[in-house]
Amino acid sequence: MAIWNLGSINADFVYTVPHIPAPGETLSSTDRQMFLGGKGANMSVAAARAGARVNHIGAVGADGKWAVERLLEYGVDTRNIAEIETETAQAIIMVDPQGENAIILHPAANAQIPQATLQTAMAEAQTGDWLVIQNETNLQRTAASLGKKMGLRVAYAAAPFDAERVMAVQPHLDFLILNAVEAAQLEQATGQAPADMDVRDVIVTLGADGADWYGTGGKQHFDAIAVDPVDTTGAGDTFTGYVLAGLDRGMPMEQAIGQATKAGALMVMRHGTADVIPDLSEVQAFHL
Ligand code: ADP
Repeated sequence: MAIWNLGSINADFVYTVPHIPAPGETLSSTDRQMFLGGKGANMSVAAARAGARVNHIGAVGADGKWAVERLLEYGVDTRNIAEIETETAQAIIMVDPQGENAIILHPAANAQIPQATLQTAMAEAQTGDWLVIQNETNLQRTAASLGKKMGLRVAYAAAPFDAERVMAVQPHLDFLILNAVEAAQLEQATGQAPADMDVRDVIVTLGADGADWYGTGGKQHFDAIAVDPVDTTGAGDTFTGYVLAGLDRGMPMEQAIGQATKAGALMVMRHGTADVIPDLSEVQAFHL
């Protein structure tokens, strides 16, 4: 089968700063690096590295050709990434010596994915394929209802969290994934715990505490692998990409979460995001 991922593509600019600037302060950075990022791009790379056939649906500006080329290099089908008359999304990430960060997200092209791009992609999708959405793009409600109507399995990573959007897409979902903070926000905003959601499979990731799966058989807990983390960014996106790639290949959920748990643990031992997501052979060889 295949995974169709309506997802964000960012240029992540990471500035090393002596401290996070205060209001009115001007500060020089000591280093700047640029990476491919965005939850959507990270998930596409993770699922492709896990062996799935991944089609990314998204948009960049003329300044984003490198990002598309990099996705292609990582095994993602990029035919449905539109180049549009705006700039590619950017994340300005400041990191201080303690590892504390502050981030400005400029959504640009991610918020202007043309409806025609989605429709062209969906015309090729087959019943039983996965459609994946998250909150860093436009069109996710349209995509979710279209996907459901076409008999696709619809997966939603509810980040960055928005209660109204979760409730709006809920009727179309087969799979929902939240981290612990998002699960708490959901309960606070709607009074519904993850177990109360009307979605067949709900996963709550708990960082170093692993993950809980709420499925037809009730709740099942999966421990994380004990490692020394150096950078936890991208762990959730990698976990999600690996779970979906496993399910797409027909694995039972327990096995898909098992491989995602290993991929997440490997990820937190590395600096960086999309560019360092482990491939399936590394994940399979990973034992502690
Ligand atoms: P997010 O990045 O979305 O906040 P989490 O931090 O919950 O997501 O991480 C997703 C998954 O990655 C976890 O369920 C776990 O399997 C793995 N993981 C995250 N942090 C650690 C850690 N410190 N040690 C081992 N595994 C981790």
